[in-house]
Amino acid sequence: MSRKILIAGNWKMNGLLADGAALAKEVAVEVKKLGKPECEFLVCPPFTLLTTVKKALRGSKVALGAQDCHIAEKGAHTGDISPLMLKDCGCSYVILGHSERRADHHESSALVRQKAEAAYKAGLKAVICIGETEAERDAGKTIEVCSAQIKESVPDSATAANTVIAYEPVWAIGTGKTPTTDDVEEVHAAIRKVIAKKLGKGNANKMRILYGGSMKPANAAGLLALPNVDGGLIGGASLKASDFMAIAASVCKK
Ligand code: PEP
Repeated sequence: MSRKILIAGNWKMNGLLADGAALAKEVAVEVKKLGKPECEFLVCPPFTLLTTVKKALRGSKVALGAQDCHIAEKGAHTGDISPLMLKDCGCSYVILGHSERRADHHESSALVRQKAEAAYKAGLKAVICIGETEAERDAGKTIEVCSAQIKESVPDSATAANTVIAYEPVWAIGTGKTPTTDDVEEVHAAIRKVIAKKLGKGNANKMRILYGGSMKPANAAGLLALPNVDGGLIGGASLKASDFMAIAASVCKK
């Protein structure tokens, strides 16, 4: 079953207008040089850069995504951004349930699921993040935790067309540590089984499962070559176009 590799950058809370425009332009130029790459590209800047980055990406095949959304279309939710607003800014994706949001904003899997449903309604695709903490891994609970997060965070209306899963071990994010490739493959295969049970084999075979957590040029080829790894959600290394593109180069042939 062929699934198109997705190389996605999560810029987190980084970048002012000029930096964001420059980074997006560099990525767009480099992606153009690939001609018809066997990969899809996505960048997810902070809300304040969405419009600027959209302009910088004009004419390129790089998709635009946001890092969170509210469950409502509009209304009295000070400080929040609706999925409809993201769509209006030119987004086609939204990252949901990132571990930093689960931790910093106490987001539950139930809320992530509602956000995903709201994203679909607005015509956005959801990148739903899951992953275990170091304590959970040490207790041998990785697959149990990830399975529960999939069951609770992914809506029943999810399909391979509207949803991407990102497996991001919390202890690997921004730490320089990564699981072994055997461990990553084992978890991704287990996630695919849970998706098959929940959404059917057809969706499970087609749904992309990204790996995220300290992916960089030096370790990308090994991770992205795994049979059940369909791309990367890249944090730190997506802030430098040369690193982001070096990661892509390890799988996206010209
Ligand atoms: C992330 O936050 O989604 C991420 C994977 O970060 P990093 O690549 O910096 O570990």
